Amino acid sequence: MLRGKTALVTGSTSGIGWAVAQAFAQQGMNVMLHGLGDPDANEALRARLEREAEVRVKLHSANLAEPAEAERLVIDTASQLGGIDILVNNAGIQFVAAVEEFPPERWTEIQNVVLNASFRATRAAVPEMRRRGWGRILNIASAHGVVASPFKSAYVAAKHAQVGLTKSVALELAETGITCNAICPGYVRTPLVENQIDAQAKVHGLSRERVVRDVILAAQPTKRFIEVEEVAALAVFLCGDMARSITGAAIAMDGGWTAR
Ligand code: NAD
Repeated sequence: MLRGKTALVTGSTSGIGWAVAQAFAQQGMNVMLHGLGDPDANEALRARLEREAEVRVKLHSANLAEPAEAERLVIDTASQLGGIDILVNNAGIQFVAAVEEFPPERWTEIQNVVLNASFRATRAAVPEMRRRGWGRILNIASAHGVVASPFKSAYVAAKHAQVGLTKSVALELAETGITCNAICPGYVRTPLVENQIDAQAKVHGLSRERVVRDVILAAQPTKRFIEVEEVAALAVFLCGDMARSITGAAIAMDGGWTAR
């Protein structure tokens, strides 16, 4: 039932978003890839996905630090791929600092990329989904959408707000055939996190193994990273017909982190 549908996955040139885009394409969906970074490398990803999955794949590089760009991204997706059935608000950034030293411009950037762009993209996509009487909105939030850690005030605030947005939108759209859910992963093995392992190993003078177990995965009871394919499989399930009654949920995929 997902074959031929159109999906926009923000921040899909790397990590979780790339895995979701690949999984969607393997289901026969046409996909708008999106992200910053090296345009040639991104174009190579686009071409590879289109060739391997035999679906239409377009590429966009809207900068979501300017939230109005999220609307342009949705409009361009609809015009280039003939509509929009599925929106995944996945793009995200992190910055770690004590609250009294937190640079206000970094705070604003995180709110824009994580929260304000999700709102603007949702706002732009809903009318088209309503017309179709079907839609799926997935917000890739975080365990930090339901619990906090120190030094991540901007990220935790933005992710909690993204979960709140999810619930409100789900209630508004409950009778329309459109669902809206948040996926709340714990630590997922992505390039972002891999880089943190090396950095922390240096700072603490510990081996990579100790950093993973005692620093990064201290709060994750399973003591192993979630793989991007696990998040992508959940995203595919939430798009399916058997998930039509799941809406307004913040679904934990966190190795038990938020069960404590
Ligand atoms: P990543 O750094 O691998 O990928 C981030 C993507 O977002 C890239 O495609 C990047 O180009 C894009 N992006 C960043 N800033 C942007 C901007 N200003 N405009 C447009 N695009 C921008 O990250 P990831 O680890 O795959 O994380 C993806 C999402 O999952 C984020 O929202 C993150 O908060 C969330 N998340 C990640 C983890 C984790 O452990 N990796 C855990 C919980 C939640």
